[in-house]
Amino acid sequence: MVTIYLDNHATTPVHPRVFEEMAPYLREACGNPGSPHDRGRTATEAVEAARERVTNLLGVSLGGWRCIWTSGATEANNLAILGAVPHKSAAGRSIVTCAIEHKAVLDPMERIARQVGARCVVLPVDAWGRADLGPLRRLVAAGTVDFVSIQAANNEIGTLQDLREVGRLCRSSGALLHVDATQATGKMPLDLERLGVDLASVSAHKMHGPKGVGALVCRRSIKLSPLMFGGGQEDGLRPGTLNVPGIVGLGAASVVAQEALAQNAPAHLAMLRGRLAARLGAMIPGLAVVGAFDGRTWPDRLPNNLSLAIQGVRGKELVQAVNGKVCISTAAACGCKNVKSTHVLRAIGLSDEEGDTVIRMGLSCMNKLADIDRAAEILAQAVATLRRGVFDQAAR
Ligand code: PMP
Repeated sequence: MVTIYLDNHATTPVHPRVFEEMAPYLREACGNPGSPHDRGRTATEAVEAARERVTNLLGVSLGGWRCIWTSGATEANNLAILGAVPHKSAAGRSIVTCAIEHKAVLDPMERIARQVGARCVVLPVDAWGRADLGPLRRLVAAGTVDFVSIQAANNEIGTLQDLREVGRLCRSSGALLHVDATQATGKMPLDLERLGVDLASVSAHKMHGPKGVGALVCRRSIKLSPLMFGGGQEDGLRPGTLNVPGIVGLGAASVVAQEALAQNAPAHLAMLRGRLAARLGAMIPGLAVVGAFDGRTWPDRLPNNLSLAIQGVRGKELVQAVNGKVCISTAAACGCKNVKSTHVLRAIGLSDEEGDTVIRMGLSCMNKLADIDRAAEILAQAVATLRRGVFDQAAR
């Protein structure tokens, strides 16, 4: 039986159309965009077309915006933060981020704050993972904030941040706004101009594109320094031969995502998520939704995210118990192999013991309704078996 893949926050399968568009660039259309012959020119054209596709998905145009190719969102976040903050902030000033950001934001933010002598202010979150904007409002009022980095959507619990309000605050104070849009791109409409975003990070492999490619989309007016040196590619901002097949893949994935948004894919994903949660809820006692859920609706949450705490069951053991039948994960795919909880779960107020019981599922449009029902049954059976094991052990 085919494994049901419900770990789409960790990574996604490449969409068949993406694969098809990439294939020629791995074979005959193998040119280096820097080469002055036909193959080089073909590669350049493909790369420029992809730039347009990615910026289109984010509601901006290449007239006022750059699309700098990177190896993924980790690099895009680092380039945004390490590349822009030194031009913008200084000793005695503040840069602001949020407690449930990905480490690829938190670590460079703390590092660059130390380097320029600025204060890195980390906004706390509520039990749903929504950033408390109070401290940001106070810094804006004091006129001391230069740079804000906040994610559009969280990779563990799917929380959506109030980008519109953060954008308004940043605009009113002249601070730059960087958004890690890795999990949100293609799952919800994102219009960078309307939201007042200045820099945004995206990653192909989270939206049915290939791994190892992403982009930093940013306003041309922003001063940015490169992180690496040694070539003039990407206006000197990101040297190195371009990953042409990957870039073509990210472009194609952007088109697929844009079409899916137009065809109401978020509503479909939300329906699948609701069904999965309802089935699991009916079969598994002692189960609680982690993050934004009011008992009936899922406000401020990615439509494809489901995070659950299952009383008395260790997430890690459940992941292994269903392995080979269903792919799920504990809270996050990165760096969580030997830890009980994560900084995200702690930030929303879960103890390490509670965090240890959390599983995360991320759905995609490639999941079928029948898969959802079967996955729920497999998970419920595994939970029952694991709980019996604990009970038997206690009785011995
Ligand atoms: N930001 C977020 C919110 C993510 O979920 C991830 C991937 N886990 C990243 C950044 C890093 O992306 P990449 O794998 O493309 O480096």
